[in-house]
Amino acid sequence: LRVEARGPDAAEAASVLARVLAEGSGERPGDAPAPSASSAPTAASTAEPVATRSPVTDANEFTGVSASPGLAVGNVVQFRQQVIDVNEAGESPQRERAQLEAARHQARQQIEALKATLTDASKAQILAAHLELLDDPDLNDMAIASISEGKGAGFAWRAAFQKQAGTLEKLGNPLLRERAGDIRDVGRRVLALLAGVRQAQIDVPQDSILIAEELSPSDTTSLDRSKVLGFCTTTGGATSHVAILARSLGIPAICGIDPRALQLADGTPVVLDGSRGSLRRDPSADELEQAHQRISRQAAKREAEKFAASKLAMTADGHRIEVVANIRNAQEARDAVAAGAEGVGLLRSEFLFDARDTAPSEDEQAAEYCAVAEALGRERPLVVRTLDVGGDKPLSYLPLPKEDNPFLGLRGVRVSLARPDIFRTQLRAILRAAPLGNLHVMFPMIATIEEVQSARRILLEEAGDRAASVKVGVMIEVPAAALIAEPLAREVDFFSIGTNDLTQYTLAMDRGHPQLAKQADALHPAVLRLIGMTVEGAHRHGKWVGICGGIASDAMAVPVLVGLGIDELSVSIPAVGSVKAQLARLTMAEASKLAADVLRLGTAAEVRAHLSRFAD
Ligand code: PEP
Ligand code: MG
Repeated sequence: LRVEARGPDAAEAASVLARVLAEGSGERPGDAPAPSASSAPTAASTAEPVATRSPVTDANEFTGVSASPGLAVGNVVQFRQQVIDVNEAGESPQRERAQLEAARHQARQQIEALKATLTDASKAQILAAHLELLDDPDLNDMAIASISEGKGAGFAWRAAFQKQAGTLEKLGNPLLRERAGDIRDVGRRVLALLAGVRQAQIDVPQDSILIAEELSPSDTTSLDRSKVLGFCTTTGGATSHVAILARSLGIPAICGIDPRALQLADGTPVVLDGSRGSLRRDPSADELEQAHQRISRQAAKREAEKFAASKLAMTADGHRIEVVANIRNAQEARDAVAAGAEGVGLLRSEFLFDARDTAPSEDEQAAEYCAVAEALGRERPLVVRTLDVGGDKPLSYLPLPKEDNPFLGLRGVRVSLARPDIFRTQLRAILRAAPLGNLHVMFPMIATIEEVQSARRILLEEAGDRAASVKVGVMIEVPAAALIAEPLAREVDFFSIGTNDLTQYTLAMDRGHPQLAKQADALHPAVLRLIGMTVEGAHRHGKWVGICGGIASDAMAVPVLVGLGIDELSVSIPAVGSVKAQLARLTMAEASKLAADVLRLGTAAEVRAHLSRFAD
């Protein structure tokens, strides 16, 4: 039996339930219906099969998903959200409404002040979304309606944001789940102001490693970096907001950690390995010594990365590999250049279309694409991916039929081909950036050559006599595209492999699924073989291949990707320096041998074990 629990008293509830079950749930052995003799477990005999279960896990180790790399040695501090009490009945609707309005106003000021202290675009963007949520008319209407019925402002507000967050969560989509977390975060901020409760500043001793069921973006942003060395949450995955924030804070973190970690006593010494997604309790003197040595090595490495960031990326034996960045807007383009990126391998243009009621106009889009191109200059390549929405990423102004399998339905380029009006507007806007930079247009979610031909024909029609100044490429994120890489390469100038989706479609595992996250690993040999096939097909026609999925930023994967013949790595901005430094230590002979070795393996775990010396 496996017991799972959620909520503020989950740890206690789970342990009580586990004890009750272990004691037989009040049943005596004779109470059970007569089973066949060979499979008659009694309360006492249920312990037996456990001994034969494999693999036996290490009770001192708690594993989860790597959310932010790095190593920390510290002591456990359990963090629980404060429970805020409110009165159900209000005084007068007018007064309660005024109180709600004042609390929302104050919350806005708090978030704006927090946002002003941030230089990191990804963090600031999360807080900008919180500001929008504060003004969400549905949320506010719901609270006001309940105040009009005589409820207190706090009670009405709490009911409204919990309902809205709950509805989004039930939809089971990872993006909407994130949004539900944001709603709860903003909701609690306003609620605390209404109740006159100072939101628990996470006030902890030196060398703390926080363990929580969930950390909101506000909690995470307000962590005191001089005291909190890292954290683990039982919820969230590698792409959750909390993981993005941890990476931008530069502290190691694990999401989706084994819930047993919630039972660790405060003060328990632990080693948190964010790169491997493992937390080790009560480390031995030897383990501690090793961890401290690794921490000093990492500090030295960071110095080397700073130096490498300013140099041209190449292997130790002089093989050139471009290191470029994944970005969403012009601000990130500037950040990328400052971090040493040699261009942009993926501009996720859908961020321009998100969180609005109407599609952005050609002028609006062109302004952003031109600003990105200007930030990069004429030489650095800019790869703009056309709109990648649909299916699991809906847009309110782009109604698409309800689908049973949205991941297998109208997504990516299929949406663009179904809506040529939106597609052509976007292409015209992108093409306006052509005179300013080194422009590449890339189509997402390509599965067939017909799709590429149709999309390319529309692009060429819009480009007219500017066609020669634009390179055209496709993302390889569907196994079919990798399998036909050779004929596909005749149609385009380049490929960029989206390993996030390629992994999900190869392994048939939803990339945001909380239980499958650990197994949906792009270092699975099946995915690596598809990458190898893609490179082979492209190189046969003299076309270059990049990787823009998350694996390109993974230190364990870099040598293998290089060994498989990749020409470009498009990485997250903070990873630019480390990837360049790693390439400078690697020879092509070593990389090719590693790639050949891991292609012979059968599981992602074996691949990672083989590459463990490259872990951060
Ligand atoms: C990918 O699938 O690897 C990719 C880069 O695209 P996205 O993560 O935006 O779907
Ligand atoms: Mg993708």
